[in-house]
Amino acid sequence: MYSKYLTVREEYIILRLGCHLSIAKGLDKTAKMAGEVRANTFQYFTRNPRGGAARKISEEEIKLWKEVRAAENLYPIVGHLPYVVNLATPKEGIHKFASKVLLEDLERMEAIGAEYLVVHPGSHLGEGKEKGIYRIIKALEESLLQFSGKTSLLLETMAGQGSEVGSLKDIRAIMEGLGNPESLGVCLDSCHLFAAGYDFRSSQGLEILIEEIHEMFGLDKVKVFHLNDCKFPLGSKKDRHERLGQGYIKKEGFLNILSNPAFQEVPYIIETPVENYKEYGEEIEQVYSWLE
Ligand SMILES: [Zn+2]
Repeated sequence: MYSKYLTVREEYIILRLGCHLSIAKGLDKTAKMAGEVRANTFQYFTRNPRGGAARKISEEEIKLWKEVRAAENLYPIVGHLPYVVNLATPKEGIHKFASKVLLEDLERMEAIGAEYLVVHPGSHLGEGKEKGIYRIIKALEESLLQFSGKTSLLLETMAGQGSEVGSLKDIRAIMEGLGNPESLGVCLDSCHLFAAGYDFRSSQGLEILIEEIHEMFGLDKVKVFHLNDCKFPLGSKKDRHERLGQGYIKKEGFLNILSNPAFQEVPYIIETPVENYKEYGEEIEQVYSWLE
């Protein structure tokens, strides 16, 4: 069904390509930073990566942000929960905290008109996948299912490091456990998928991945694609991002994804290890030059 492999993107589809940016100086500044690096979408941490309190976003900041966002034509806006939020933890207090933070951040994202909130499904910490999945479902019942706004939650596919939950199959189990709510989607990550063993450097390898997505939850559930190269070889299960073209995925792997009909309308967010955000300008230029 998706076997028609294109070598170039369809020109009439706008490529939504951006990167991870900081909102520490205010959302309007972030919108300007995006413009500086030629990003037409961006992702930010909803709070300090180590957890902690969320920065208060005032009414004035939201008003200014909405104006700058429209002027810069930014879409979609993606929040990312800090890595310490573990929805699968067996520790009761931390589990409660995780659902609370998730619900709060969905509400904070709704307030600024952001489209998606990405979360790593979590780590079961040795209790086994089944229990981990059960706890994620419980946490989402107490947060996502209590939320009535327009922002959607996206579960990210993981590399399978340690006790991580987050294979395509795990994500399907979570979706089914919640009764497949409309507000729940998926964020793919090229580095994580490659580390999990999907070799999309060949078109046949990419077809295998696409077929699996199709079987598990369907391509329409894929709302964001993290574009990262991988520091370690195929199937390493190690989540270590690398600059685009400098890791094991290389230009061929990225071109396969970017030019496949299955992923032409998905926004791409780069989260590669850069010294400062301006280097994302080089990463974005790299992608555009590959597509020429
Ligand atoms: Zn992530």
